[in-house]
Amino acid sequence: MKNCSITNFKMNENHWSFNLIREIKNPKSILEEDEFVYIIKDKYPKSTYHYLIIPKKDIPSISKVTKDDLELLHHMEHTGNKYIDSHKDYDFQMGYHAVPNMYRLHLHVISTDFISNSLKTVRHWNIFNTPYFLPSKDICKELEDKGHVFIDIKKYEKYLSCKLKCHKCSYTPKNMVDLKKHIIEHFPVK
Ligand code: AMP
Ligand code: ZN
Repeated sequence: MKNCSITNFKMNENHWSFNLIREIKNPKSILEEDEFVYIIKDKYPKSTYHYLIIPKKDIPSISKVTKDDLELLHHMEHTGNKYIDSHKDYDFQMGYHAVPNMYRLHLHVISTDFISNSLKTVRHWNIFNTPYFLPSKDICKELEDKGHVFIDIKKYEKYLSCKLKCHKCSYTPKNMVDLKKHIIEHFPVK
């Protein structure tokens, strides 16, 4: 049984929130690994390309990192950049969710087209397109400057239900169907 006070992981390891741990134990799921990290594809990608970089060190979430982990976080970012460089015709963002759903720290490396059948809900949109998504660079800077990463859960939870807005222009869609129709205009089929 894990017990992590700031996150929601006070539960049995058979729970779905431990599914990333199951994935990294399955060689078929691993795209690549080195001494420090695993790289897997997100099973429900929210964009054309969506990878997860998961450390071998058992860190529950970004709120639990310490200054000793700074080098590891830099390594995760460096690894993510290798994947970004392999898709030159796409823009990417790389970062952490302030309050993650899944156990063990994971860095999202995601292309910014957000064209995906798995992207369905307002929550899906807002966790990648509001300050709920914490860019890796900002996290590394905070860790370097302050020695820890402070997550005010109440502050971040407000972003989950905030009004939809296109990430490429000022359009404010009525709902997800509207937004999904709209973003395709920014990303003509390649
Ligand atoms: P979060 O905890 O909010 O940072 O995001 C967890 C991510 O894990 C989501 O993007 C899910 O689509 C993804 N996910 C959930 N289950 C699996 C799985 N079994 N394998 C790979 N990715 C998963
Ligand atoms: Zn737009």
